[in-house]
Amino acid sequence: VKRIGILTSGGDSQGMNAAVRAVVRMAIFRGCEPFLIHEGYNGLIKGKDMISKASWEDVSGFLTTGGTVIGTARCTEFREYEGRQIAALNLIKTGISALVVIGGDGSLTGADNLRAEWPNHIADLLKKDLITKQMATDFSCLMIVGMVGSIDNDLATTDLTIGAVSALTRICEAVDALQCTASSHHRAFVVEVMGRSCGWLALSAAICTGADYVFIPEDPPNSSTWEKKLCTELKNRRDAGKKTSLVIVAEGAVDSELNPIKSEHIKDILTTRLNYDTRVTILGHVQRGGSPSFYDRYLGTVQGAEAIEAILKADASTPSLVIGILENKITAQPLKEAIKLTKQVANEIKNKNFSRALELRSTSFLN
Ligand code: ATP
Repeated sequence: VKRIGILTSGGDSQGMNAAVRAVVRMAIFRGCEPFLIHEGYNGLIKGKDMISKASWEDVSGFLTTGGTVIGTARCTEFREYEGRQIAALNLIKTGISALVVIGGDGSLTGADNLRAEWPNHIADLLKKDLITKQMATDFSCLMIVGMVGSIDNDLATTDLTIGAVSALTRICEAVDALQCTASSHHRAFVVEVMGRSCGWLALSAAICTGADYVFIPEDPPNSSTWEKKLCTELKNRRDAGKKTSLVIVAEGAVDSELNPIKSEHIKDILTTRLNYDTRVTILGHVQRGGSPSFYDRYLGTVQGAEAIEAILKADASTPSLVIGILENKITAQPLKEAIKLTKQVANEIKNKNFSRALELRSTSFLN
């Protein structure tokens, strides 16, 4: 019977629990034994009580719960070879030969590193007499399957990451609430949303709330003209009868010279140049809170089921995979490629190749 470990790592996102539940139940359905690894890579390194066999009932109630019930962590030890070796030993001692990791690109890279080094870990553990020759033969290969739990929707090669739609929903609810008070007082609101170097949340929120202006990292405005352009645009809309102004700013927004565009600075511009009563709202962690949207429950569930199918189909030559969704089809693609492409987007922005960045990012916007 194949034993499959599952952990959540890095920042939490809504829908991670749905994915954990699906992995556990699909594993049982397909005759495997699922093991919950608590508190991310910390749990994998601590071993013992942090790794527990999961029953069907253990994950009941997970579907509708936000955050991650099995816990997540950032683990510095796992960044080191020695730390990953302890993790390897705990996996072998538990009999786990496949690992499902739900996290951001850092967590998935870590898992892929563990797999790439696996033959070295086996050789070292044998040399140290920590495993037997039989164990070395039985666990000669570790399969890795990743799922992206992130509100940022920043992984190239997938249309949506688990949690992004819930965060977008939360942002839209908050902006709708702000619009009521904004129109009562003829105010302008500058709303800063998460997303790090990815503008998907900001752009989607702007579309869904009918914002007047949006700033995203992939499409930086001209550093010497954007302030004037912003004022002209907002004034034109007010002149046409609008009572409010709404500007959405991605936390990673920059201008064409890569100077950060900060919400407080936008407020100052609107206050001093247009004389608007302007307020800033930084939505912060409320964006990743609350129960998951129906879509993230769905996405976590179908991707979790696919993760098990991918493990059962894999052999030693199969690369580490990441489960995604493209054109409404669940995909399993090489993890390394997906991460490489994602990093390339950030590099293109740093190198001011904005149109290339937008083009690459659009693999997750539009495909
Ligand atoms: P988020 O998008 O929410 O930040 P993430 O998975 O990218 O999620 P990180 O803090 O980058 O978050 O990574 C989470 C954990 O994964 C780290 O604390 C570390 O244990 C492990 N990890 C990250 N990068 C590596 C790496 N290059 N090698 C080994 N382990 C890593």
